[in-house]
Amino acid sequence: MDNNGSARRQSPTLFMEGSHLPRVVVIGGGFAGIELVKHLDTRRYQVLMLDRHNYHTFQPLLYQVATAGLEPDSIAQPLRKVFAKKKNFHFRMANVERVDSAARLLHTDIGAIPYDVLVVATGTKTNYFGNDKMRQGTFPMKQVPHALDLRSHILQSFEAALLQTDEAERRALLTFVIVGAGPTGVELAGALAELRKHVLPCDYPELDFSQMEIYVVEGTPKVLGAMSEKSSARAKRYLEGFGVQLRLGTVVAELDGPRVLLKDGSTLMSHNVIWTAGVTGNLPAGFEAASINKANRLLVDAHGQIVGLPNVFALGDIAAIADEQNPNGHPQLAPVAIQQGRHLARNLNGLAEGRPLKPFTYFNKGVMATIGRNKAVIDLPNGWSLGGFIAWLGWMFIHLLYLVGFRNKAVVVTNWLYNYLTYDRGTRLIVRPFIKNKQQPAPAAQAPADSAVVAATRQAEQAPAQAQA
Ligand SMILES: Cc1cc2nc3c(=O)[nH]c(=O)nc-3n(C[C@H](O)[C@H](O)[C@H](O)COP(=O)(O)OP(=O)(O)OC[C@H]3O[C@@H](n4cnc5c(N)ncnc54)[C@H](O)[C@@H]3O)c2cc1C
Repeated sequence: MDNNGSARRQSPTLFMEGSHLPRVVVIGGGFAGIELVKHLDTRRYQVLMLDRHNYHTFQPLLYQVATAGLEPDSIAQPLRKVFAKKKNFHFRMANVERVDSAARLLHTDIGAIPYDVLVVATGTKTNYFGNDKMRQGTFPMKQVPHALDLRSHILQSFEAALLQTDEAERRALLTFVIVGAGPTGVELAGALAELRKHVLPCDYPELDFSQMEIYVVEGTPKVLGAMSEKSSARAKRYLEGFGVQLRLGTVVAELDGPRVLLKDGSTLMSHNVIWTAGVTGNLPAGFEAASINKANRLLVDAHGQIVGLPNVFALGDIAAIADEQNPNGHPQLAPVAIQQGRHLARNLNGLAEGRPLKPFTYFNKGVMATIGRNKAVIDLPNGWSLGGFIAWLGWMFIHLLYLVGFRNKAVVVTNWLYNYLTYDRGTRLIVRPFIKNKQQPAPAAQAPADSAVVAATRQAEQAPAQAQA
């Protein structure tokens, strides 16, 4: 790496002081990006982090925001606060559109930004496998705004169901279809089942909750397909115990309004279809096709370096370090991203002192998922698997440990305690009513999936105003 910091062109939009140190630009303030910056020696480098959000998102708890268990600010942390004490660190809220590695320049929505060392840690986005109908007709679960939209929509569905006199339409409003039985799908299904059992009947005593159905549709024959047979079977048993209906070995073939057609020929009617069926790399443009694998991940060597681009590294979900055990790259999990971030920081610190790069090895500490109250599954690296209450305590402990920020840890643990003891969930607020595709009005003839929900919510909102008038 050459030190061209002093000669570097300054971006007119950055308003950063110049530096004689090489500039490391990190795209993404996720698990990988923040762990890298935490450990990077800023006496050796000037560090600039770019993220399209001004906060870090703790994605593993998004489903609790969507199901009214937690407020979004308890699972997100402003990136400026994370690094408030870090010297020679700068943050800019920017969306990186294209990487020009020949000119060492990033093209962003705040202008062009030069770098000396680039670290791409942009994670993943929802994969609809090119199906636009699925994208338009379902709810994703990747970002805080997605979780808030879903929370509003879920609550709006119950408000709408109250006003609905048509039995079939009311049932469709009360039916939830989750596509994908990975950890997110399973956790969402469990949380919805808890809402149905403990919370919603108190909020909506006029509704018949025996009509509320929760389905999980999964293409493979297993739930939690990446986990051991034992954990998968346990999770299935727990879900069935919570009254979740599993449709395994089939996929959603088509969406037509509230009609969800499955490949096995069956049909479900639902206004609430949630898509957790896959992710794909969230890659800015500018990389050669030869550097990208089928999952849209950047192919990197054992040091995280993109082959042929010595000053460009990739980390976390977007990076695929292929080894014997992981021919398509490591699993897209927070611990992998964290370990890679720490490892690259050590490598870059060493490089500044003239030491060679060391290869990354992943230390697997186990995999876990929760299904609901007192129920979780854990696969340990020695082949053991745990379930039930002990696993659930373990799941909570590990999530608190990884959650960023002391305040967030305190708020989350207080909420969990409150929810556990009272069987209640405190955040059932429709703060900003959700209107799907409001930028693209649907043709009048084609009733959009949410029209019933939105119309009924509007009706409900107008009723008190009319009464006052
Ligand atoms: C709903 C859900 C539940 C999960 N549950 C678990 C779990 O229980 N356990 C577990 O280990 N893992 C879980 N994961 C996976 C885990 O969250 C990821 O492996 C981890 O977040 C990857 O970290 P990362 O830093 O690579 O990417 P991310 O954490 O996704 O961060 C990427 C960052 O890059 C930013 N960004 C992206 N593109 C651009 C751009 N062009 N310009 C500027 N900024 C950009 C994004 O805003 C984001 O802040 C879950 C994921 C999801 C979505």
